[in-house]
Amino acid sequence: VALALLITSFLLSVVAGQLRPLPSAGLPSDLFDLGIASRLRTDTNTTAKASTDFGQMAKASPEAVFHPRTPADIAALIRFSSSSLAPFPVAPRGQGHSWRGQSLAPGGVVVDMRSMGRAAGHRRINVSAAGAEPPYVDAGGEQLWIDVLRATLQHGLAPRVWTDYLRLTVGGTLSNAGIGGQAFRHGPQIANVQELDVVTGTGEMVTCSRDKNSDLFFAALGGLGQFGVITRARIRLEPAPKRVRWVRLAYTDVAMFTKDQEFLISSQVGEEVGFNYVEGQVQLNRSFVEGPKSTPFFSTLDMNRLARLASRTESPAIYYIEAAMYYNEDTTIHVDQQKMDALLDQLSFHPGFVFTKDVTFVQFLDRVREEERVLRSVGMWEVPHPWLNLFIPRSRILDFDTGVFKGFLRDANPAGIILMYPMNKDRWDNQMTTMTPTGDDDVFYAVSFLWSALSVGDVEQLEKANESVLDLCAKADIEFKQYLPHHTSQDGWKQHFGAKWSKITELKAKYDPQAILSPGQKIFPSQT
Ligand code: FAD
Repeated sequence: VALALLITSFLLSVVAGQLRPLPSAGLPSDLFDLGIASRLRTDTNTTAKASTDFGQMAKASPEAVFHPRTPADIAALIRFSSSSLAPFPVAPRGQGHSWRGQSLAPGGVVVDMRSMGRAAGHRRINVSAAGAEPPYVDAGGEQLWIDVLRATLQHGLAPRVWTDYLRLTVGGTLSNAGIGGQAFRHGPQIANVQELDVVTGTGEMVTCSRDKNSDLFFAALGGLGQFGVITRARIRLEPAPKRVRWVRLAYTDVAMFTKDQEFLISSQVGEEVGFNYVEGQVQLNRSFVEGPKSTPFFSTLDMNRLARLASRTESPAIYYIEAAMYYNEDTTIHVDQQKMDALLDQLSFHPGFVFTKDVTFVQFLDRVREEERVLRSVGMWEVPHPWLNLFIPRSRILDFDTGVFKGFLRDANPAGIILMYPMNKDRWDNQMTTMTPTGDDDVFYAVSFLWSALSVGDVEQLEKANESVLDLCAKADIEFKQYLPHHTSQDGWKQHFGAKWSKITELKAKYDPQAILSPGQKIFPSQT
C-alpha cells in the first residue's frame, strides 16, 4: 500500500508539473525551492539545444533552461538572480536566430520565450481595430511575426514594416531594430511600437511608452536585451493589401543602381505613386558560373539571360533593385500597371531586364520561407552563418563598392546572399538604443553579407572576408555602424555607441544593476 501511495503521489506530481528538476551545481540550490522551479530543466538534452544559435559560431552551455508560462514567471526568475548573493546570467531566447551567441547564457539560465505562447493556450496576440484610436496589435514578445501577420490579417490589417524572414520573434527583432524594404518610409520596426511591457533586470514588471517610463521604452527598443525582457509590444497597424507586384531590375553600373534606389526612397516619389518596398541585392559574377542555375525567384531561363549579361560586362556583379507595389483586387490591373510603368520609365536598369511576379501579400512577406525550404532540402540551412551587417553612409557607398565588390570579392564566390539597400535616416529615432551612422548623410545603406559556410575551411575564409570588409572601412575612413552588432571588447562597444555610451551605462546600472541580462552580447565586463 505504501509503495502504491508513493507511486501515485509521484505520478500526480509529474502530472501537475511539480517534479523538482535536478539542481544544477552552477546555480544556487534555493532556486530549486521556488514555485517556478518545475519550469526549469537541467538535463543535457535541453541545455544542449540552448547552447548555440542559428549562426553556429558560438557555443556555451547554460546550467538550465526556463520555460515560463507568464511574464510573472520571468519576473520571479530574474528577481531571484538579481537579489541573490551569487547572481547568474539570464538570457531570453526567441528563436535563437542570432549568429554570434547573443541569446546564450553561459553558466546561467536561458529563458525559452516561445514556451510562454504555448502555455497560455492562446496566441497572446490581440488586435484592436474598433476603437477611436488607430488600429494596433498587442503581441507577446515571444510571438513569431508570421503569427502576428496571420492574426492581424483576420481584421484586414497588418503592421507596416517587416523583416525579410518572419520566423523571428517580436522581442528578438525589437531588441535589434527590425529592418526591411518598408523601413525607408516607415522606419524600422522599433519606430512603429507604441507601448511595451518589460521585465527589468531587477525583476520589476513595467509598462512603458513615449510618455510613461520613457527612458526604459527607448532603452529597450534596439536594446540588445540589456535592460529588460520585452513581454508585450503594442504595434501600429494599417489596412493590409491583398496582392503584391514584385519586381527585380538588373544593373551592372553601381552608380545608376544606387541613384535609382535613392530616387525610389526619396520624397520626390510620393506614397501614392511609389513602391511600398525597396531593397537591393548584389550577385557576384562568379556565382553565375558556379552557383545554382535557378532560384525561387529566377527561372533557369532568367538566370541564363543574367549570366550572359554578367559575362559581357566589366562589372564584377549584377546589382538588383528589388521592389514591390501593393494593390487590391478591386483596383483594375490596368491602373496598377500604368502606375508601375510610370515609375519604371524613370529608372536606368538594363532595358528588358525587369523580372516580375504577382503574388498574394502573405506569399510576398513570407518569401524567405521558400528559400529556407530549398536550402533545408540540400542541407544548407543548418550550417554555420558568419554574417556581417553594416550601415554605410550614402556618401561612402561607392567607395565601399569599389573596395569590396570591385576589390577583394571581385573573383570570389562565397555561398550566401548579399543585400544592399538604402533607408532614410529621419525615420529613425535616435532616442532608441539602435545605432545608425552619426555623420550628416540623410540616407544610409544596409549592406548584409549573409554567408553560409559549407565546410570548416569556409568558416575561416568567410571570417577573413568579414575582417577585410571591416579593415577596408577603417583604412578608407568609412564611418559605419554594425547592425545586429558583434564586438569582442568593451572598447569596440564604446566605439559602437559613441556619445550614447554614458547613457547606456547609466541605464544599465538602473535597469540591470547586476548585469545579468543577455550576457551573450558581451557588452559589460561581467559578461565578457
Ligand atoms: P534571439 O536570437 O533569440 O535573440 C536575440 C537577442 O535578443 C538576444 O540577445 C536575446 O537575449 C534577446 N532577446 C530575445 N528575446 C527578447 C525579448 N523578448 N526581450 C528582450 N530581449 C530579447 N533582422 C532584420 O532586422 N531584418 C531582416 O530582414 C532579418 N532577416 C533575417 C533572416 C534570417 C534567416 C535570420 C536568421 C535572421 C534575420 N534577421 C533579420 C535577424 C533577426 O532580427 C535577429 O536574429 C533577431 O535576433 C531575431 O531573432 P530571434 O527572435 O530568434 O532572437
